[in-house]
Amino acid sequence: MSDLARQLFGTDAPPKRLALIVDLDDTVCTSFACPLRAALDVLARLHRQKVDVHYVTARTDASRRGTEDFLAEYRLPGYRNVHYCPNWKSSRRHKAEVHATLAREYRVIASIGDTDEEEGEASRLAGVPFVLVDRDNPFAAWAALADLIRAAEGFIVEERA
Ligand SMILES: [Mg+2]
Repeated sequence: MSDLARQLFGTDAPPKRLALIVDLDDTVCTSFACPLRAALDVLARLHRQKVDVHYVTARTDASRRGTEDFLAEYRLPGYRNVHYCPNWKSSRRHKAEVHATLAREYRVIASIGDTDEEEGEASRLAGVPFVLVDRDNPFAAWAALADLIRAAEGFIVEERA
């Protein structure tokens, strides 16, 4: 821990792990299991020892098998961290609650998704930076996210120096 971090957080605060919050549909894939190249490029390059990926989705448990198959097929990180929406809960409330929980447990680099009123609002409520995916050009958002990841990973390296 650096002197600055010690000043800010005290010596007893364990450093939080880094995380990304990622929406699935129209963010990582279209038509349920057709991957977006822009997402694959960034997620495949992620430093898996440093950054945990959490998928927060409106999909319910009924989609578990297909979702796990998709993540495995494209070797995407975080297949154990898929937060399915309970049948009785609105996706908006589900996303808000999971974003809030993850923001307490992790230093969340950013949340990325294509629906501002769902994951965008959830991010703002949780104090997490949000990157909005333009469905016509997902590359721009994923490039912006890649910059945030590089900055966050660099910060961790500096802390340990
Ligand atoms: Mg979506």
